[in-house]
Amino acid sequence: AANAAGTGTALRYRPALGSAAERRARLREDLPGAWDRGELSVLFQPVVSLGEQRVTGVEALLRWQHPELGEVPPAEFVPIAERAGVIGELQRWALTHAATAVLTLPCTGAPLRLGVNISASHVAARTLVRDVAAVLQSTGLAPERLILEITEATIMSEGEHVAVDIEALRLMGVHVALDDFGTGRSSLAHLTRLPIDVLKLDHAFVLRVDRDPKVRALCESVVSIAGALGLDVVAEGVETPAQLGALRAAGCGFAQGFLLARPMRPRELVDVLDDGAGQLWPGLVASR
Ligand code: C2E
Ligand code: MG
Ligand code: MG
Ligand code: MG
Repeated sequence: AANAAGTGTALRYRPALGSAAERRARLREDLPGAWDRGELSVLFQPVVSLGEQRVTGVEALLRWQHPELGEVPPAEFVPIAERAGVIGELQRWALTHAATAVLTLPCTGAPLRLGVNISASHVAARTLVRDVAAVLQSTGLAPERLILEITEATIMSEGEHVAVDIEALRLMGVHVALDDFGTGRSSLAHLTRLPIDVLKLDHAFVLRVDRDPKVRALCESVVSIAGALGLDVVAEGVETPAQLGALRAAGCGFAQGFLLARPMRPRELVDVLDDGAGQLWPGLVASR
């Protein structure tokens, strides 16, 4: 009976596994050139300064609209691009497209900063410095406005040349953010040695900052150490006024999340930037 049940289970799950593998194969086959076919787009999520109560930057987030499979999330297609060896092309498209779009946005105070996520294998491939320099040159975006978002695992794991490349980028004036801080082997001790300008506090911390006193204490320590090191702290994935209030109390300078604004098209962003902060983010007011 156990045998029969086992076989039945295997049979029942087989088609599901097959279709997941088929989907991956299909995505891998279709991804190269998706950018030239107009299937990729970039959404921009505002980053808000809690002190100034205004949008000071945006993070570029890639989207792929597959003609038959619909919207494919970056968490699914970026790893496929890495394995298919097209990550360099994909990143060059994303960097160029994001920089071009950001230059069309209205300026409300200091020029908006642009965060672009950079994948580990693009850093490993050693074309990053050349690619970034070429994009700055061709678009005319000031290097100071660009923030490359890189995870700690990437900064730490890819060997000697990564530090050299990141230093070269920073000498060009480009900023570097440590993305998803708190998810990997991140440690406070590492912070003193990493060549970064911004620290992005992961959603996992933000989720519990208003309810767990230990997480709150941890956030306060991170903010305080980051301040001493001259780093800006951006809280990621802020969804509730209570979370924003706790982050503000912890001294966090910047926030990003659905409470404040969803990732949006440049045209929607123009409306957001034209609007007053008070009406725009009830969440900012509610968390005071
Ligand atoms: P990430 O860099 O940590 O980006 C933040 C993710 O959190 C985004 O997901 C964003 O839509 C989502 N998010 C924003 N606010 C909230 C919130 O309040 N609550 C929750 N639960 N989530 C929120 P998305 O756009 O699906 O991107 C996922 C990941 O894909 C990004 O994580 C980034 O690692 C990667 N990615 C996106 N665009 C690119 C790209 O151009 N190049 C590379 N290499 N990776 C990219
Ligand atoms: Mg990011
Ligand atoms: Mg992140
Ligand atoms: Mg994250």
